[in-house]
Amino acid sequence: MNTPPRLKKSANPRNNDHVSSRPAVPQTLQHLFMTDEPLKRLYETIADCPNCALAKQRSQTVPGSGPVTANLMLVGEAPGQREDEWGLPFVGRSGQFLDKLLSGIGLTRADVYVTNVVKCRPPKNRDPKEPEIASCSDFLDQQISVINPVVIATLGRFSMARWFPDARISQIHGQVKRIECRYVVPMYHPAAALRNNNLRSVMHDDFEKLLPLLEKQSASNPRASVPPTSKSAHPRNSPL
Ligand code: SF4
Repeated sequence: MNTPPRLKKSANPRNNDHVSSRPAVPQTLQHLFMTDEPLKRLYETIADCPNCALAKQRSQTVPGSGPVTANLMLVGEAPGQREDEWGLPFVGRSGQFLDKLLSGIGLTRADVYVTNVVKCRPPKNRDPKEPEIASCSDFLDQQISVINPVVIATLGRFSMARWFPDARISQIHGQVKRIECRYVVPMYHPAAALRNNNLRSVMHDDFEKLLPLLEKQSASNPRASVPPTSKSAHPRNSPL
């Protein structure tokens, strides 16, 4: 994995004088900027994207984070304020809870790929609009194509709607769906659990359903005596 500067200088607030008053990305999160080569090229394309109204208001794009070899991809809704400032997905309070959910099944952010259905922050953290999601969907297509995850967990109703447009999240969360060559598991958004304490245990339970899917992948791969999210367990090496 390379550690190049991920974004063009003009698109990265850490390099811009006019935003130098913004908080710096903590050292503990710097590893989330590590980017594999195929994703780096895609991130550079996203950084220049003018394709919807959100381009005008962003500080920078928030393409995603995680290794190209991840077996688990988490797809949320949209960057928030902190994400817009730092250029990383899920680094605010929702991200802290997401880290706990991952820790509960023995994973860290370094094991998984995390992104959103739109790569730019909607103003005042409003919901992303349908035309914005549609404009951005090709980037998510490309991320899925490059990473080829075994499991996609959708976080919230906007990413759920990509695969289950008529579903209600309260009815299908935690249900494992087989779609073509991978599993898709709809989940609540971590922010929902921050607003409603009752959803915290629901989300922990739903996350536990991911582990057997990842372990199944490892079991099907003769080189998978290492954790399921390691490079050798990548789905490209699997009959799945
Ligand atoms: S949200 Fe997506 S489509 Fe819209 S400007 Fe940002 S990167 Fe482009």
